[in-house]
Amino acid sequence: MRTWTRLLSLATLMTLAAVAAGARGADVPGAPHTVLLRPERVWTGDGAAHPGWSVLVAGGRVQAVGPAAGMAVPADAEKIDLPGKTLIPGLIDLHSHVLLHPYNETTWDDQVIKEAPAYRVALAVRHAADTLQAGFTTLRDLGTEGVDYADVGIKRAIDEGQVPGPRLLVATRAIVATASYGPAERNYRPDMELPYGAQQATGVDEAVKAVRQQAAHGADWIKIYADYRTGIDGSTRPTFTLEEMRAMVAAAHVTGRKVAVHASSDDAIRQAVLAGVDTIEHGYGASEATFTLMRERGVAYIPTLTAPEAIGEYFQKHVRGGAPTPAMQQAARAFQLARRVGVTIGNGSDVGVFAHGSNARELAWMVRLGMTPTEALRAATTVAAGILGKPELGTIRSGALADVVAVDGDPTADIAALCHVGFVMKGGVVYRRQ
Ligand SMILES: [Zn+2]
Repeated sequence: MRTWTRLLSLATLMTLAAVAAGARGADVPGAPHTVLLRPERVWTGDGAAHPGWSVLVAGGRVQAVGPAAGMAVPADAEKIDLPGKTLIPGLIDLHSHVLLHPYNETTWDDQVIKEAPAYRVALAVRHAADTLQAGFTTLRDLGTEGVDYADVGIKRAIDEGQVPGPRLLVATRAIVATASYGPAERNYRPDMELPYGAQQATGVDEAVKAVRQQAAHGADWIKIYADYRTGIDGSTRPTFTLEEMRAMVAAAHVTGRKVAVHASSDDAIRQAVLAGVDTIEHGYGASEATFTLMRERGVAYIPTLTAPEAIGEYFQKHVRGGAPTPAMQQAARAFQLARRVGVTIGNGSDVGVFAHGSNARELAWMVRLGMTPTEALRAATTVAAGILGKPELGTIRSGALADVVAVDGDPTADIAALCHVGFVMKGGVVYRRQ
């Protein structure tokens, strides 16, 4: 239930103040405002946490990190003490949908068919603010699910400092094979004309055209659905042919854009990997041979472990912490197999299926299924930045963008510390102070 009191919460007012400060130029490169952050310890994105370290920020970037004693700090630097807290790089979620909200509030079909685009954009603005408050400073947002190019506009408003939110890398409409996605044709009268959840394409020419149209309208990544419930009795089958997949990947790569592919069935995952895609989303049905091929070809895996848990809670009477549903077991199997094979695993949750701002549930799942807290944190920082091809993100080192977050306690010892965010800075601008 959403209420006005929530909208007028202290955190929101502070966020608005921070945005105003940012708009006045505090994050402009070369601006005089220098900040010295003094937490209990710093985890830079690699190795162990360093007790007693400080971080110097100016011009929107990290200037220095290390023991405060050896740091040349300007006399007029603002000093922010963060006692008991660990400073970590701003977190990255590689699979989000800011234009969706939890399906137990409104089903996916009803969001796409009945909710006005303006309403969905208004919600998305709040989702973006909630995400930033939770310490996630970058999202790769994988499809607007029926709101055309709205993500491009939201990204612009955030980048300009008009509204608070994480850095967005957007996929716009996403591309699906004709009549393979949702709202599923079989559930409605055949003569109904419904808004669709993605851009439909048939044949190499239309598929390549869709890539080029989405790139031209602002897509940073190209998102393709390689399978969906198109089989007899609704089983998951590949949707595009290998020829169509190869053509879309080539059209994306030639423009410098990478390709993220939704795929759950082993056949579709293998076909996508052979077509040259960059990341596999979900991948729940991947075999050991297919994960091995992914490792060999440098294709990253984004496990989205929280989505089946959320779906289980909404529609299958699953109680959080209770016996896993078959879908959750399949997701766990894939994650553990991918780890054993040595596939690069990036943090991506499919948030939007569940509440924005609770993105850290995915890291808790990765730890529950075998990663150390530090491995899970790397999947959401340095490893995620590597998948994005953006080494200036996900790390606290001299020259990196000043996206830093402080949490109570030590998340390298207990991942649950991510639920206690006490400070958020993005691009040198403070968005949360307690
Ligand atoms: Zn998704």
